[in-house]
Amino acid sequence: MSKAIYPGSFDPVTFGHQDIIERSSAVFDELIVGVLNNSTKNSLFSVDERVSMLKELTKNFKNVTVDSFDGLLVDYMKESGATIIVRGLRAVTDFEYELQIAQTNHVEYPKAETIFFTTNLKFSYLSSSVVREFAAYGGDISKFVPKQFVDRVYEKFNIKK
Ligand code: ADP
Repeated sequence: MSKAIYPGSFDPVTFGHQDIIERSSAVFDELIVGVLNNSTKNSLFSVDERVSMLKELTKNFKNVTVDSFDGLLVDYMKESGATIIVRGLRAVTDFEYELQIAQTNHVEYPKAETIFFTTNLKFSYLSSSVVREFAAYGGDISKFVPKQFVDRVYEKFNIKK
């Protein structure tokens, strides 16, 4: 049984994340989407809001669960029994950081293997921070974020569309 975790901030979840979830859930027996509860990061959505959006998004995927964790990813992996870390690579700019984190996690927990999915070309430019920035100025984010979450993002900026 392969049990993988796809960790991230998902603040908010985008089509890029959705694509990685769909593809990785087809590769591994079980996939946990793990929302990082990072108290030092100023987030737009609370962890509970992000978990609930991801649950809505993945409700038809039988082998996908959504959870949140704080502290070290490897500690959460030991607890949950996941041994594979799924990450998405958009561009070379992601590479250096991701390589470093993957190697550190492997040293901390030798059972942990990181597997990278290359981004779908359609979404290679897309990041949660770009979505937040566009939404803050009333830009059209319907091409970036699943339909059911678009208004929730605008609401955070008191924007009515
Ligand atoms: P983090 O704070 O961990 O970077 P993110 O929510 O920004 O959290 O990203 C989580 C993971 O999803 C990362 O591996 C990131 O590279 C990947 N990802 C984000 N946006 C995309 C995208 N458009 N296409 C593919 N992967 C993506």
